[in-house]
Amino acid sequence: MGGVRVTVLLFAVCGLFPSLLTAGTVAVTVSVAPQAHMVKAIGGDRVSVDAMVRSGQSAHTFSPSPRQMMALSDARIYVKVGHPEYVFERRYLERLAELDHEVRVVNMAHGTDLRTLEEHAHGDGRGRHQHEGGETDPHLWVSPRIMRATADRIAEALIAEDPAGEADYRAGLSRFHRQLDELDSELRETLDGLQRRMFLVNHPAWGYFADEYGLQQRAIESEGKDASPAQLAALIERTRADDVKAIFVQTGFSKRGALLIARELDMSVISLDPMAEDWPGTLRSFARALREFNG
Ligand SMILES: [Zn+2]
Repeated sequence: MGGVRVTVLLFAVCGLFPSLLTAGTVAVTVSVAPQAHMVKAIGGDRVSVDAMVRSGQSAHTFSPSPRQMMALSDARIYVKVGHPEYVFERRYLERLAELDHEVRVVNMAHGTDLRTLEEHAHGDGRGRHQHEGGETDPHLWVSPRIMRATADRIAEALIAEDPAGEADYRAGLSRFHRQLDELDSELRETLDGLQRRMFLVNHPAWGYFADEYGLQQRAIESEGKDASPAQLAALIERTRADDVKAIFVQTGFSKRGALLIARELDMSVISLDPMAEDWPGTLRSFARALREFNG
């Protein structure tokens, strides 16, 4: 009889507190979904991961759901981007500190050479955030090289937090390194010999990717605003001369200029989401599209 009562109670408790279902795993919260992909690749069954900003969302208008705040209060490791642009990271990590919740922080920007932005701004029509000149690019996770360095630090944090899993984490990390090597050679093969190295985007999220693979990013938005008619006219002439056939657009940012240029020059408009969890898949599709349209 006693055993039955305990089982029933346990079910009731699990229903009330879903986090108990992940008991025994290391709870990790990450800032952007692509980081979650990496934590899962390294930690496998030993980790449970929650991402703050997900596919299709913009980090600049982001505010977490109550469920995400619950997950955050369980987190033993937090993987942040670590760029000043990501104000929400600082805000939530401060809140955890106020609650005396100790969390191990992995900072992606630590030890990374931040590239300087070309023309850059963040905005989605609701609220705009304007960059000042000479600011650095916050979109670190589109670089396989930076992801690799971060993966090493994530593995270290997991081992420190869960020493019993060291062998699993080391195996997960080597597997992930191999996947990155494959991704890198595939990207180089696809982009090798590409005739037109310039690509056009509504929002400049691909600078680190461009630097790594010898490409050149050109953004339609300018200083936080849609391009002016004069800027658009100039962009249309430059783009016509470059003879590229596609514009890449990101959800959450204005597509007005992109659609106008595409209509004028009869270009294809392709959606690309740098916030998607499967970032190696995103980079592969991007490279293949460049091959197809810029080849
Ligand atoms: Zn951005």
